[in-house]
Amino acid sequence: MNHTDPNTGSDPVVDRLRAAGCVFAEDEAALLRNEAVDAAALQQMIERRIAGVPLEQIVGWAEFCGQRFAVEPGVFVPRRRTELLVRTAADRCGSGSVLVDLCGGVGAVASAVLTSVGSLELYCTEIDPVAVSCARRNLAARASVLHGDLFDPLPQALRGSVAMITANAPYVPTGEIAFMPAEARDHELLAALDGGADGLDIHRRIIEQAPEWLTDGGWLIIETGRGQADIDRELLAAAGFDASTIIDDEIDGTVVAGQLSRHRGAHR
Ligand code: GLN
Repeated sequence: MNHTDPNTGSDPVVDRLRAAGCVFAEDEAALLRNEAVDAAALQQMIERRIAGVPLEQIVGWAEFCGQRFAVEPGVFVPRRRTELLVRTAADRCGSGSVLVDLCGGVGAVASAVLTSVGSLELYCTEIDPVAVSCARRNLAARASVLHGDLFDPLPQALRGSVAMITANAPYVPTGEIAFMPAEARDHELLAALDGGADGLDIHRRIIEQAPEWLTDGGWLIIETGRGQADIDRELLAAAGFDASTIIDDEIDGTVVAGQLSRHRGAHR
């Protein structure tokens, strides 16, 4: 359909979105028109977009690893770069294993790893109740989605039997939050982004606690910032992991992968 205004020679919706700073204004206009049930709804969506609300929160879904995920206002929106976390995990995870995804958000990482691996005993923990409700919709019966901080909500019986832990935990240093895009800063839960002074507060807690939950030879795979990976690897090594960094420049992804020694004894 042609949306060009005969008087101005341009599409008014595209013009408004572009003026508000949307780089992909044509694509966004097409998507919003497709999603809006009527003209009033379209106007409301455009207003919210101009106010800086992430497109995904406006339409109510985000695409990640070729799947659609429900996202409600305020939740952390799955990022393209996190596909590296999924790939790194799926490459190292056997079908049928126990996998725990910490800081699971709307369940995108858990779901994509499951799709790639085929079958898993899957647990996803998340502290934001809104994200938890999205994750329950997105994962349905395919995973146990548990509300709480990191390992706290997991069944105690899982201790020592988890083959892999994945996490896209918050890792932005507090002082850098102000430099994030307004979409993230103003419309995503701060707790999903802020990783403390050097960004690694939550990584430290995860790395410290993970060995109690993993099997010997188990994996801990964490998304991190390019400049933070060296410290993550040191933390992993100090906790008994063989650690390496995986980088994908194309999607600006950085992941650290740690494998627990098969003969750790002393670390139990
Ligand atoms: N820099 C990351 C992003 O915006 C931060 C995400 C996070 O803390 N997990 O994609």
